[in-house]
Amino acid sequence: MLARIPLQKNSREEDSFNCMGMNKLDKLSEWLKDAVQGGSKAPLVSQSEQKQQVQQAPLKKTRGPVIHPKILRAIPIGGLEEVGKNAMIFEYEHDIVVVDMGFQFPEDELFGVDYIIPDIQYLVQRKERIRGILITHGHLDHIGALAYVLPDLGFPTIYGSALTLGLVQRQLEEHKLLKHCRFKVIDNKQTYQLGQMRVEFFRVNHSIPDAMGVYLRSPAGNIVHTGDFKFDFTPADGVEADIKRMEEIGKRGVDVLFSDSTGALKPGHTLSERIVAETLEETIAGAKGRIVIATFSSLIGRIQQVLQFAQKHSRKVFLSGGSLEANFEIAKKLGFLKFDKDLVRSVREVTRYPDREVLVISTGGQGEPMAALSRMATNAHVQIKIHDGDTVVMSSSPIPGNEKQVRFLVNCLAQLGANVVHSQIADVHASGHAQQEDLKFMMSLVRPKHLVPVHGDFYMRRAHGNLGPAVGIPLGNVHMLDNGNVIEVKDGVVGFKKEDIKVRYVVVDGLGTGDLGSQVLKERETMAQNGLVSVTIKMTHGGRVLGSPFILLRGFLVGKDLDKSLKEMDKRVRDSVIKLQKQNKRPSVRDYENIIRSDLAGYIVQKYNKRPLILPVVVLV
Ligand SMILES: [Zn+2]
Repeated sequence: MLARIPLQKNSREEDSFNCMGMNKLDKLSEWLKDAVQGGSKAPLVSQSEQKQQVQQAPLKKTRGPVIHPKILRAIPIGGLEEVGKNAMIFEYEHDIVVVDMGFQFPEDELFGVDYIIPDIQYLVQRKERIRGILITHGHLDHIGALAYVLPDLGFPTIYGSALTLGLVQRQLEEHKLLKHCRFKVIDNKQTYQLGQMRVEFFRVNHSIPDAMGVYLRSPAGNIVHTGDFKFDFTPADGVEADIKRMEEIGKRGVDVLFSDSTGALKPGHTLSERIVAETLEETIAGAKGRIVIATFSSLIGRIQQVLQFAQKHSRKVFLSGGSLEANFEIAKKLGFLKFDKDLVRSVREVTRYPDREVLVISTGGQGEPMAALSRMATNAHVQIKIHDGDTVVMSSSPIPGNEKQVRFLVNCLAQLGANVVHSQIADVHASGHAQQEDLKFMMSLVRPKHLVPVHGDFYMRRAHGNLGPAVGIPLGNVHMLDNGNVIEVKDGVVGFKKEDIKVRYVVVDGLGTGDLGSQVLKERETMAQNGLVSVTIKMTHGGRVLGSPFILLRGFLVGKDLDKSLKEMDKRVRDSVIKLQKQNKRPSVRDYENIIRSDLAGYIVQKYNKRPLILPVVVLV
């Protein structure tokens, strides 16, 4: 069973107002600093042949026979049929290592569902074998499900870079789980022994700093998992990817490469953050009035650039948005953001400064209704009222599915008089994902025998796979998998789709988690599309109907003759009762309810061509 953990509403990345108290942040960052600066107590063993150090994770007792001897198994439990909820299992005999544990925002048709998370049944059944969860970077589609799955997995150690773990801890703190969790800040120069598997990390560029790819070796074969990545030789945070390491890993041998497909539809190279920086600076330098820059709260590198430009062009910076303020604080404490002390001011003081000295960084570039930019666009923001002369820069591009909200937002801002600059008219955003030439570059460096495109819908992954032959990976060695398909590597020989562990869709809905196919969701869909008809009748134990049935219509349109329709339904309900009593001498309450539901549904579909949710209630008095 999945744990029922209270979900903090508003915990979405861009509209969260539940930021942690600063005392907790202080403690958390102190702890992280300690760990980064070598405070880790785990013993180090030098490994001369690689001039690297190996860290041994404590082994828990494992039971049972080895079912798949000398085989490395890789099982994606998310991220292969969608953009989001990324999670992959690696299993060698008695040891399991998990890479990422993200959630996905639901599509519109999943009425009211908060998130979709990976199905962890396979892991729950083998939780004593989990040696660690490796997190590649701090985006919610890689960390968001941790809070929902950790209690059922026995809180295995979470491995990640300093910033990644800072963001993970903020999530877990929101769910009040932090005290149960164990963390290990990774060093990309070390090797970690997790059971019989050895794991190394290499730095990649992405739209969040401190992102890592994973090199995992087992006695049966080796894999590389890129996490999300792009190549940027002039990145926003100034930290380069470990390109030499990737090449060296390629030389050591890689059987299977699991690589990010999110940007695979676009030809060429991903735009460098340097180009974005130049455009942003031009915009800031040219603006006469206030500037509002809306971006993702995780784009720490870009936020750093904006801080520098604000300083240079004599503007003060004001932050608006809970998740932005919380991430800003974590990144600042860990040294990922550097700026003069009096540059950043409280948004409450914004009206004290002349327009030409104001630069606001805000959340809500995706049109999220509760986020700061939406509140500005609808005049609901307490401190910032958009007016003529303001410049609003949308420094993100709409995530697929959000286009409608973003268009609405841009329209509202323009109506209020703002000059809106977005990625379709200027280079004010660069994607965090490798485009086709970058994907080929990764394959050329790592030189895998087999490629499994991950992170994306089928057509994105197919486009990624089609690039293989150009860099020496024949199409026969490119494998299109679904979530749950098992890949096996034995003595360097790779077998695909050997087994399917059948993963379910698991949804988080308010306080609970459950299956996507659940009755609750079907009922919501019916109500949203067709409305609700509720019928309450009072009846004696002898089966005599007392008074008139009470019929209530919600979201169900009957047109002009409401009274006539209600009378007709009243008659149908009474007829159903009489019909049942003729068929069955001792009908139960359930029998009455069933016949009323089915007879009324038949009448409504015939008369109105609609299928509302029908809710009969029989009260015996
Ligand atoms: Zn990412």
